[in-house]
Amino acid sequence: MRAEPVRRWPLHPPPQPGEALSSWIDRLAACYNITAALLLADALGPAHERGKIRLEGPDLDVDPQVELLGAFAERTGVSVADLHVMTFAGWVPCLLDSLGPFDGPEAFRTYVRQDSVLLPPRQAGRHRTEDWCAWLPGRSLTPQVPRKAWRRRMYPECARESGRGVSLAAVLPLMLSCPDHGCRLEVEHEVTGTPRWNKPMPYRSATPAMVAIDRCTWQALTAGKVTLAITVHAGVWFRLVRSLPDELSLAIPTSAGARALMMERIWREADHQRRTGLKVWRPYEYLRSEVQEAMLEGAAVALQLAATGEITARGSLSHLVGPQRHPPVYDGDPPPPPPRPRRGVGCGHHVLRRSGAEAVRLASGSPGRLHRVLPDARGLRRNR
Ligand SMILES: [Zn+2]
Repeated sequence: MRAEPVRRWPLHPPPQPGEALSSWIDRLAACYNITAALLLADALGPAHERGKIRLEGPDLDVDPQVELLGAFAERTGVSVADLHVMTFAGWVPCLLDSLGPFDGPEAFRTYVRQDSVLLPPRQAGRHRTEDWCAWLPGRSLTPQVPRKAWRRRMYPECARESGRGVSLAAVLPLMLSCPDHGCRLEVEHEVTGTPRWNKPMPYRSATPAMVAIDRCTWQALTAGKVTLAITVHAGVWFRLVRSLPDELSLAIPTSAGARALMMERIWREADHQRRTGLKVWRPYEYLRSEVQEAMLEGAAVALQLAATGEITARGSLSHLVGPQRHPPVYDGDPPPPPPRPRRGVGCGHHVLRRSGAEAVRLASGSPGRLHRVLPDARGLRRNR
């Protein structure tokens, strides 16, 4: 007996560029005026009832089971590969090295400290980081994760537009502002709860430095490459942006001279305390969200100052963020040498029109040529 083919849902708006899987499922559910949990139950059927599919917390956006992606692919026509890219698992290995939280300090060294931006290579020293995964809030992949550590954020201006999804990048401490509207990211429940609480929508404008760094990150996510001094792969940009808050979080003694002065300048321009007031170094992913925001603001200012030449980046990736020099322009081919006069009748005629006497001189020594050019030479003499 043949199994009954899965029926495609009648309404299935396509995912938007860079949208998180959880956001798209929310939008699908809204089409039918039901909750996302009900839609998931309908899609997964018995698998959902048996509790085989995890649906809680960050699972949808981190690494959902392939059965879940397959169920949604059948009911919407969006391929499993396209759905996979809407999760962090789809960012491995280009944008993230791995999602394994237990890869140990080696994962941190490879992703964050293999290259440097502001500081000369190998100056960051060594730090032990356990249970670490790039960009993912600390320990959020373990069962003991406090749910509040995984706060989804939204762009207030985007939220006003009906049908606009939430970017996957907004789930992580990766961006500060909306690349389209220039408004700062806000905590989701503060944006969505304002109509109920009769409060104004939270709104903070992003600075030009924030918009610049976020546009690059958005370009990396949607185009797979970023245009800097040269065009680089999105993976290079993600590692570069992650190295910046790490360098800004290091304790650099004031005796370090130019390096200390550079950090001082960055934090002064960013209007934050040095190292955002950190007393003890911790990886960026373990910091409170307010401190992460301040670190990213420092990173945005550092890139802006490096691009204008107000600070000198000395890292292995500094050639990507420094002031752009005018690209060398091809000098062009040298002009061809003037044609050498050929010893012949044609040449003699040309010169004759300028000087009959010269023509005679050119034709001298060649009686045959003189005979042929003389009529013209005589004519020139008559016209004088
Ligand atoms: Zn927006």
